[in-house]
Amino acid sequence: MWVEIVSVGSELLSWDKAETNSLYLSKQLKFLGLEVRYKSIVGDIESDIEATLITAAGRSPFVIVTGGLGPTEDDLTRKAVAKALKRVLVLSDALIEKIKTRFEAMGKEMPKNNERQALIPNKAIIIDNPIGTAPGFALEHNKSLVICLPGVPSEMQRMFEDGVLPLIKGRIEGPGTIEARIIRICGIAEAKIDEIIGDLYAAERGVRIGLTADEYGVDVRITSAGLSDAEAAKRVDELKEKIAARLKDNIYSFNEEAMEALVVRLLKEKGARLSVAESCTGGLIQKRITDVSGSSACFEMGVVCYSNEAKIQVLRVPSNMIKEYGSVSSQAAMAMADGIRRIAGTGYGLSITGIAGPEGGTEKKPVGLVYIALSEKGKETRCKGYNFTGSREMIRKKASQMALDIVRRAILSN
Ligand code: ATP
Ligand code: MG
Repeated sequence: MWVEIVSVGSELLSWDKAETNSLYLSKQLKFLGLEVRYKSIVGDIESDIEATLITAAGRSPFVIVTGGLGPTEDDLTRKAVAKALKRVLVLSDALIEKIKTRFEAMGKEMPKNNERQALIPNKAIIIDNPIGTAPGFALEHNKSLVICLPGVPSEMQRMFEDGVLPLIKGRIEGPGTIEARIIRICGIAEAKIDEIIGDLYAAERGVRIGLTADEYGVDVRITSAGLSDAEAAKRVDELKEKIAARLKDNIYSFNEEAMEALVVRLLKEKGARLSVAESCTGGLIQKRITDVSGSSACFEMGVVCYSNEAKIQVLRVPSNMIKEYGSVSSQAAMAMADGIRRIAGTGYGLSITGIAGPEGGTEKKPVGLVYIALSEKGKETRCKGYNFTGSREMIRKKASQMALDIVRRAILSN
């Protein structure tokens, strides 16, 4: 079984707006073991949407359409779907009431235009939109299930998780509840994780494990398949415990908490403070930390010292050290970490220096070489070197995640 994704919206065909809904969907579908075989982007032209849908529904068991369900004239998805799948659009009184209630909750009256959003092809399964006005819907068409969701990413994602996942799972696995647990891992590669827990995949009937990797690490998702409520929860938890016992402290979250949020929470719990000196990540670590609301309680300050001169003047990295070992070296990284901790007077001082590429690499110091150091009150400053791969952006993201993970591990080991 496979999935086809159709993204509707003329803006998605322009040069300044990236189509991202399909990326989210592909990741979620991979967790279910479903491959995406086709995806297309189509502008707000009714006949184009119709033609795309006829093709998609003619060849793919699951078609997920996002966008074009809004209340305005250029939101054409429902009309095009009705034409392509030969349905009539019916006005649902129940949906009008729901949309009205949503507007009332915002203290507004429903504009007449929004009634259009209650027009649904006949015999559709309605997919609730708990955070917006446009409901989604799903239609059986021959051997295909066509699912239509609004384009707004946050609404689409929420509806996918609440409404679409059960529909798809019901089709691929028969009846039963869905229980899912996500385990987030940093510091070991996907292949290594596979090696450590691979034997658990086959051993467990009724539950399955899926891995997805990105710059921030690997997510292991455990889901149940066609089990009763009680059994699903029990089996999924049992498997979670087994995986936890094997991957130990490489796991940073069981509840999808982001690394930066976790580090801020741990620092606050311990009453500890952090300062950061960055070179190759250009402030990304500090941005991620300060993205977390309330981080002022534990994040003191940080600097971006990009030039050698700045490292020498601001952080007091000895100039002869840079001459001898270079600014991308464990020596420089440790001096940077000590420097920022001294300036800030914090318990932890984190530093990072490396070569993000694509230029600037040498044979001895290739692109992706990054040193991360942690200076900690009352302990010896320590540093580790890494060889990250990928584009400049990927290397920076991976490096920032690893740096935060080092702080996490340090806090937890105290
Ligand atoms: P709705 O049915 O909720 O009105 P819509 O697609 O008709 O959805 P738009 O106003 O076109 O509504 O889109 C809402 C926002 O979501 C816009 O900023 C749009 O660019 C964005 N968006 C829509 N589809 C995608 C997509 N596939 N990837 C990324 N962003 C998207
Ligand atoms: Mg649109």
